[in-house]
Amino acid sequence: VELVNAHLEAIERLDGRLNSFITRTPDQAREAAKAADELLAKGEGGALCGIPLGIKDLFATEGVRTTAASHILDNFIPPYESTVTANLKRDGAISLGKLNLDEFAMGSTNLTSAFGGVENPWKRQGSDARLVPGGSSGGSAAAVAAGLVLGATGTDTGGSIRQPASFCGIAGVKPTYGRCSRFGTIAFASSLDQAGPMAKNLRDCAIMLESMAGFDAKDSTSVDKAVPNYEAALDRGVKGMRVGIPKEYRTDNLPEEIAALWDQGIAWLKEAGAEIVDVSLPHTKYGLPTYYIAALAEASSNLARYDGVRYGERVTGPSLDALYEATRAAGFGDEVKRRILLGTHVLSSGYYDAYYLRAQKVRTLLQRDFLQAYEKVDMLLAPTAPSGAFAWDEKPTDPVQVYLNDVFTVPASLAGVPALSVPAGLDSKGVPLGLQLIGRFFDEETLFAAGHVLE
Ligand code: GLN
Repeated sequence: VELVNAHLEAIERLDGRLNSFITRTPDQAREAAKAADELLAKGEGGALCGIPLGIKDLFATEGVRTTAASHILDNFIPPYESTVTANLKRDGAISLGKLNLDEFAMGSTNLTSAFGGVENPWKRQGSDARLVPGGSSGGSAAAVAAGLVLGATGTDTGGSIRQPASFCGIAGVKPTYGRCSRFGTIAFASSLDQAGPMAKNLRDCAIMLESMAGFDAKDSTSVDKAVPNYEAALDRGVKGMRVGIPKEYRTDNLPEEIAALWDQGIAWLKEAGAEIVDVSLPHTKYGLPTYYIAALAEASSNLARYDGVRYGERVTGPSLDALYEATRAAGFGDEVKRRILLGTHVLSSGYYDAYYLRAQKVRTLLQRDFLQAYEKVDMLLAPTAPSGAFAWDEKPTDPVQVYLNDVFTVPASLAGVPALSVPAGLDSKGVPLGLQLIGRFFDEETLFAAGHVLE
């Protein structure tokens, strides 16, 4: 009760400014805390008993409004619970509410939310400029960084756990595709979407992931594989492990301080006994265009269901078509509309072969790059993002410029392999920077072990 109350007070005090929550559930949290105390007094309760968490507002929560940060779901109260949040609840975690994100998880800044942007709790030295928390799980990252919750759920389609974790100086893990159930997670791009934990450090992430992960018959892409003890993997060290440095990630315009942090990471792993090996992922330059075709195609199809008939907001019209049009015109924000248009275009007859099908083929080549690298190394080390957190008013007006921030995160998503981001240093202005480790299918344990050396 004490722990939950302290965090509820912190939310009260700080979240007016940060705006990391869309919906707060203090009454339910206090109730749950009392029940947790009773269990703990009896020496019972799961691994997360009484731990206050925040839930990205992309996870359906039974009886609690779930918006995906979109006006089109303004008033949607799901009658069911996502598997990931049900698993956390089963182990005793207490939700303090639903966290802000980019609308339908589309973005890297959290500025596309229909519920307003989120402020990164970090500031540049000597400046009061509001920084973005990254995205799309920007509310999750900001809430953890500001100490409003002890951990948060995120989802990562092309970097949405790793990049905000890097921008806010926390740890975040995108598990292997299929590790966590997608049941009840509002879909963006179904072949890429993966839930994962975000917390101050990897130990907390490990404990959370063990609870979140596992086979679920309600998700046909969920993989039936035992969930290991991730926490135990933390102290394995990296002696004798081979860490690959993908040479294509060392781009000409990589900022000096990010290159320096990467070198520092290499030195730390070497010191801890790892062998560093240069590797090549030759198709890396096709990662962004492939992602922004494949993900948008899937998004345009997934978002067809928001028509004003079955869910959320409805704007009526003189015919059913008019109702669809008016509802979608009023309900979706600009970035979502842009993606529906692009996604529909690449799937349309005459363009399908040239764009969508081609992207699917290149995706296979990108995946093959990783599999070939893993014949030589156990994991890869790279920066999480090509920049630290930038100011709200520095967000480029050209959307393609924003997409470029995902350059280091989308390849692992397209390949389906696990990756994590750990806070590894600060830039010259005192803003956090993360390093990324990318691993073999279902080998999150190795990433936890090596990440723990870096954090
Ligand atoms: N920033 C990427 C995008 O805008 C990734 C988002 C995500 O992982 N949900 O699509």
